[in-house]
Amino acid sequence: MSTWVQGRVVERIDWNDKLFSLKVEAEVQPFVAGQFTKLALEQGGERVQRAYSFVNPPEAEYLEFLAVSVEEGQLSPRLQDLQEGDNLMVSPRPSGFLTLDEVPAGRELWMFATGTAVGPFLSILGSPDCWDRYETYVLVYAVRYERDLAYLEQIKALAAERPERFRFVPVVSREAVDGALQGRIPELLSSGAIQEAAGIPIAPARSQTLICGNPDMIRDTLAVLEGMGLRKNLRRTPGQITMEKYW
Ligand SMILES: Cc1cc2nc3c(=O)[nH]c(=O)nc-3n(C[C@H](O)[C@H](O)[C@H](O)COP(=O)(O)OP(=O)(O)OC[C@H]3O[C@@H](n4cnc5c(N)ncnc54)[C@H](O)[C@@H]3O)c2cc1C
Repeated sequence: MSTWVQGRVVERIDWNDKLFSLKVEAEVQPFVAGQFTKLALEQGGERVQRAYSFVNPPEAEYLEFLAVSVEEGQLSPRLQDLQEGDNLMVSPRPSGFLTLDEVPAGRELWMFATGTAVGPFLSILGSPDCWDRYETYVLVYAVRYERDLAYLEQIKALAAERPERFRFVPVVSREAVDGALQGRIPELLSSGAIQEAAGIPIAPARSQTLICGNPDMIRDTLAVLEGMGLRKNLRRTPGQITMEKYW
């Protein structure tokens, strides 16, 4: 199989002036919910490629990516310029370890995301197989402003479908929003505010956690969870904390 296949944008969603989703038609190899692939565009005769997580579950007809246009970024502003019908290059070989087959058993699965990193968790939650593994699933989704919360309708639909088994904890750092916690994930975990909002405690014997997105949030959240007795999940030494940094 070649290194790149051609993809075509079939739909775009603009969540705000910087945050957008692209639905893409492309022939890629089967993937596991939570994985990513690479997208690329030619720029001045050079191919610029970056990793993007699938938002769609593996069963979906189209690939879907959630991205933010990074100021002065090389690729993301160009992706934001793409319109329906435009082409881009897609790597046909998905990869990544933020998948439930890498995560040991437990009672609750906690998913901590900043910004666009909610994408792989929506892929996981949208996949019917995911619901066989844990009793309860908690999505903690942190952004700066309320307008940065994408896919709220989809998340609310998940909550309505499985009120007993799914908890949603939105976190907004830079403004007070009804129904959301205000602050950063590490401090809100440390104070117990997130556990209180979810109605579930965190402890090594019951919790599995996935953390994805901003590397500072991941570092600080890791430290707080380790303080609660949880350990990194490595293939050689299984634990309760599985992570994926976006940069
Ligand atoms: C495994 C993996 C999966 C990823 N999945 C996604 C995804 O689903 N959606 C997505 O938007 N990005 C994702 N990224 C980041 C993405 O690959 C690019 O780094 C990002 O789009 C910026 O590329 P750029 O060329 O525009 O900026 P660059 O010129 O490469 O600038 C990189 C800088 O942009 C900032 N940055 C990078 N990614 C983000 C982000 N997501 N949110 C805020 N600031 C960021 C950081 O400061 C970083 O140092 C993922 C990265 C990895 C490693």
